[in-house]
Amino acid sequence: MKFENYAISDNIKKSLEEMGFRKPTDIQFKAIPSILKGEDVLAIAQTGTGKTAAFAIPIIHKLEISAHRRKPNRVRSLVMVPTRELALQIEEVVRSLSKYSKLSILAVIGGIDETRQINKFEHGVDILISTPGRMFDLKSRGYFDFSETETLILDEADKMLALGFNRDIRDVVHNLPRYHQTLFFSATINEEIKDLAYSIVRNPIRIQLSPKDPVSKNVEHSVAFIEMDDKRFFLERMINEQKDKKILVFVRTKVRAERLYNAMLRVGIETLTLHGDKEQADRLDVLEKFRAGTVNVLIATDISARGIDIKGVEYVVNYDLPDVDENYVHRIGRTGRGFERGQAYSFCAEEEREMLKKIEAYIGKDIKVMDIDKVDYRMTKALTQEGDNNWKKLLEENEKEQAGRKKRKK
Ligand code: ADP
Ligand code: MG
Repeated sequence: MKFENYAISDNIKKSLEEMGFRKPTDIQFKAIPSILKGEDVLAIAQTGTGKTAAFAIPIIHKLEISAHRRKPNRVRSLVMVPTRELALQIEEVVRSLSKYSKLSILAVIGGIDETRQINKFEHGVDILISTPGRMFDLKSRGYFDFSETETLILDEADKMLALGFNRDIRDVVHNLPRYHQTLFFSATINEEIKDLAYSIVRNPIRIQLSPKDPVSKNVEHSVAFIEMDDKRFFLERMINEQKDKKILVFVRTKVRAERLYNAMLRVGIETLTLHGDKEQADRLDVLEKFRAGTVNVLIATDISARGIDIKGVEYVVNYDLPDVDENYVHRIGRTGRGFERGQAYSFCAEEEREMLKKIEAYIGKDIKVMDIDKVDYRMTKALTQEGDNNWKKLLEENEKEQAGRKKRKK
């Protein structure tokens, strides 16, 4: 069925058309009718399958047709997400979808000036998208409350419930009016979190697509066995062979991100880094540059593994394996989004083999091993620009020394 045949407002249909969304994805097809009916929904569907629009379309429709209107210092629906970047991204999708719907949309995140956020509450907000920190802060200072909030949405729900926000979220639920709707969306969820989620909702409809395989069908993923100290040579080679392609590289820590950035710089490769130590403005600037393709390689920690949707990321590299098994699914899910296809490679060192096993157990299958024969492995190490530079440097140093000696002799 096409969107044009859906029982949703013409305003939304018009924006869907402009966005190039003609027919619903599987999760949209399954979730939209339930949400329109007012049911609580727990939806699990792979990365990049369009979960944002799956909740945003019916929410916008319901807000539009509702007899209620927004009121000062009230929020009509609340979307909670784990990272600031994701909040802004969802804000953007919601804005596009509601372009003709005359709703008041607001993203509330930390790290930036709060004045504009506070001012907006005065006139009431139809859809508030936020990370918990700043949102709870502004709420406790009385800028708004949940007394008229009809819908609560947790995107990346497992992460939200596990982040230590479980109590805060229960608190939100307690403050909602008697009749409200709760929606949970994620690509992954474990039994424990599932129980937690169920304890918050009433008779939820559970929609789970491809429960056996959490990895997106659009992502081809494999692992290569590469020793820790050799990884950078392989990354260098890969970047050089895939010039102009967008590559997202995941590392385990902030320190390793910066170290890799420097190693790439030494061999003349420009990259970007994204991690929690960066100022918010910096983080947004980095994402913008990567999105725009100003720089095509982004080295990131897991903070950007969840939910971030960047067009045209063709490769994800797990330069380090993640320490949390489900993060594997989220990381490689940054490619192969929507109707695109993508590839993911994991560089696995000897000391990471245990983690690889855990990941394979989590996704329920073995990851295809990419054979690198011994010759190729040695070639890659030998061909590195860094090696060349070292030679160049040695030669230069040698020349300088010689020149120095000559001077001294004179
Ligand atoms: P998820 O939250 O499931 O990881 P997103 O909501 O971020 O996925 O959507 C992934 C990509 O798919 C986005 O780039 C979005 O624009 C695209 N998309 C979503 N729904 C549709 C649709 N019905 N038709 C075409 N593209 C879509
Ligand atoms: Mg998402």
